[in-house]
Amino acid sequence: MSPRYVVGLDMGGTNIRCAAVSIDGEVLLLLKSSSNSGGPAHAVADNLATQIQRLEDAARKKGLGVPRAICAAVPGPLNVFTGTVMAAPHVAAWHTYPLKTHLEEKLGRSVVVENDANAWALGEFWRGAARGLKDVVLLTLGTGVGGGLIVGGKIVHGRSGMAGELGHVTVEPRGMPCDCGALGCLEAYASSSGMHRLVANRIRGTIPARYLDSEGNFSVRGLTMAARSRDRIALSTFATAGRYLGIAIAGFINIFNPELVVLGGGVAGALSFMRESMMKEVKSQAFSAVTAETRIVRAALGPIGGVVGAAYAALNPPRPH
Ligand SMILES: [Zn+2]
Repeated sequence: MSPRYVVGLDMGGTNIRCAAVSIDGEVLLLLKSSSNSGGPAHAVADNLATQIQRLEDAARKKGLGVPRAICAAVPGPLNVFTGTVMAAPHVAAWHTYPLKTHLEEKLGRSVVVENDANAWALGEFWRGAARGLKDVVLLTLGTGVGGGLIVGGKIVHGRSGMAGELGHVTVEPRGMPCDCGALGCLEAYASSSGMHRLVANRIRGTIPARYLDSEGNFSVRGLTMAARSRDRIALSTFATAGRYLGIAIAGFINIFNPELVVLGGGVAGALSFMRESMMKEVKSQAFSAVTAETRIVRAALGPIGGVVGAAYAALNPPRPH
């Protein structure tokens, strides 16, 4: 019997999701665990291998047999062809770390390594909002801003597999500082960490409890609730984020002529508060003939997008050209 499933693993800053996914993209089994991303380089990688082995055991017990292929999606930038992670924002120990080689030694078989944002984009392309389309720009607006580009039905990897860092296009020269070290990146405005800074700049004092979660951390969900009750600071912060999102999207529309722009991640939950300022920029900055063919929608898969896309990458491994 030929293997009926593939392993898709999605590593975030806090959690790992590891799934058995059928060869047509159905999640059959999903395990969640902690990333433990603060440890030494090999220990963080060993934990990924352990989660894959746990999943394979559970899948075997369910009668699913052995996997056809395996992909681990991790934060980048990384060279997807060699599987070397250059620097990962949440894994301090991974600097030019040969993750693919290490996982393959541990598991004794071939492993595909993909960028987490690309995997999420591939999930939406395969089974989500962009299903059946060929030219799509995908942005995930979370703690940071990740992205993926699908052109002619294929994800764009670039020369060394690091293309698609859409969150780090400049939208305001000499603007707000970004975690990447540059100034005025899209991520500095349209991510939860960027919005935290925007709110702090507007308040210039202690951040009010209504913008915080139960543990006292800044929360986009809290800001969204405040916007619903017409809170001025919340509304103006989303308007600013929407404006810069619109500037970036207008550029992507002019460059790629996509049929769809997909927005995912927690910040996209507040799209209704960003849409007006976003569309104003899109309409004024992008060619109207191109914009007329582009729809801007929210992602469809939610938190399983990454494991579904990792499974797609396992079945369609990145190839250098
Ligand atoms: Zn940046």
